[in-house]
Amino acid sequence: MNSDDFKKNIVIALDYDDTYTLDPTFWQGFISTALIHGHKIICITARRKTLENQQELATTLPDCVDIYFSYDEPKSDYAKRNGIAVDVWIDDMPGWIVGIT
Ligand SMILES: [Mg+2]
Repeated sequence: MNSDDFKKNIVIALDYDDTYTLDPTFWQGFISTALIHGHKIICITARRKTLENQQELATTLPDCVDIYFSYDEPKSDYAKRNGIAVDVWIDDMPGWIVGIT
């Protein structure tokens, strides 16, 4: 079995505050590598979907990253409710994913 046997397009949900913002240059490299491998990066933040927040994230994150605002709803519930199938979560506060904060 070689590594190609594991080929799958992975959907990775990347947190914004204190994850992406800790080192945007690092994550931009990570996102570029993910794209080369056929994977998709989305951002699910617990922030509220205000115009200010939309503008901040849209100008900070690479254009290829779709942005979602769960607004305090557990992120996994939000994703399910919106038909977003996440394979891998990256978050400095994993409690936000399952609603344990
Ligand atoms: Mg965070």
